[in-house]
Amino acid sequence: MLSDESLLRRIEELEALVYVPGLWRCTKCDFQLIQANMSAHSGTVTARDEPGDKCPNCDSPLWRVTERQAGNNLIDRMEPMQEELTSLRAEASRLQEEINNSVECVAAFMLSNSYATGHGDDVGALVTELAWQHKERLERLRQAQEKNDDR
Ligand SMILES: [Zn+2]
Repeated sequence: MLSDESLLRRIEELEALVYVPGLWRCTKCDFQLIQANMSAHSGTVTARDEPGDKCPNCDSPLWRVTERQAGNNLIDRMEPMQEELTSLRAEASRLQEEINNSVECVAAFMLSNSYATGHGDDVGALVTELAWQHKERLERLRQAQEKNDDR
């Protein structure tokens, strides 16, 4: 049988593991507050776990947040972000494919019309710039066309 003192010590140890240091939450409106003590003298910042602060939105008491609540909250916030990321990656991939196709069209246009560099107009400069940016692709097309011409 544990003594009262060792039971209290054990409760303190377990509480330190259960709650996120310095994190408080309003159960009414989900407002969250991180309380910290800042020491100007030593330059340290430590968690402040003293109760008594009220929610600035609805004046309700703030409650400590358990590690499990914080973990669940993070997962809840992460899920829509993960979906958005997946959707954005698909969109980026689609746009990259579109850019690649456009560059190939420009390169093919340049080859088929013997479009020379040195045009003074803006379109010419743009096409030249695109061709320079995608020199390898252009070179492959040029080689493909040379093979075609040999036949
Ligand atoms: Zn509130």
